[in-house]
Amino acid sequence: MTLSARLLELERLDQEADRYEKELRGLDVAGALAQVQAEQDEVAARVKKLKQLQERLRQGEEDVRELERKTLALDQKLYGGMVTSPTQLAALEIEIAGVRSDKDRLETELLELLDEVGLLEAGCAQQLARVEQAQQDLKSREHEVGERLEVIRENLLGLRRTRGDLVASLPDHTVALYTKLRAAKGSAVAAVESGACGGCNMGLPDHKLRALSKEELDRCPNCGRILAPKP
Ligand SMILES: [Zn+2]
Repeated sequence: MTLSARLLELERLDQEADRYEKELRGLDVAGALAQVQAEQDEVAARVKKLKQLQERLRQGEEDVRELERKTLALDQKLYGGMVTSPTQLAALEIEIAGVRSDKDRLETELLELLDEVGLLEAGCAQQLARVEQAQQDLKSREHEVGERLEVIRENLLGLRRTRGDLVASLPDHTVALYTKLRAAKGSAVAAVESGACGGCNMGLPDHKLRALSKEELDRCPNCGRILAPKP
């Protein structure tokens, strides 16, 4: 294998490794996990609020019952014949009216609260179902991702071994040039096809084309990439 062919192979290995690395980053489930966690916290806060409202509702219903008992007791006093003074009777009627009005107001408040609780209950139920679904999806995805991760790690190990052997067969300064070009241009080696550089598509002069089969490295006069005959 000529030097340029080995460099072309090195680039192919590096590109394959890059694709795996990119896939690895894409497979990251941490982001999805954080999202589910955030939604879970949100739904927990809503459930907490729901419980507070339910408690207020329960307390309010108790207060209504207390006011009912109070009205009943006052009615008995009013119609029981124990109070006969017109002034006292009038005062009693005012008191009863006051208690009834308090009760009406409270009942109106409770109806609004009941609506709010109903809406929140429905919202929480929906969100809880969504979180549960997301958790299930994540679980099955984690399983799939886990299997794929195994494959990728295995392949990357193999690639790195092959790359190590290949690099060991190359002169240090050639590897340095390759590394520098790849970092600067994204690819270091350009396969020559139909007389043009595969990196920048510039047509190459005849003497460059003739030199391709030789052992020395040649570079594209336009983009500077190492030229290699297309395998
Ligand atoms: Zn070029």
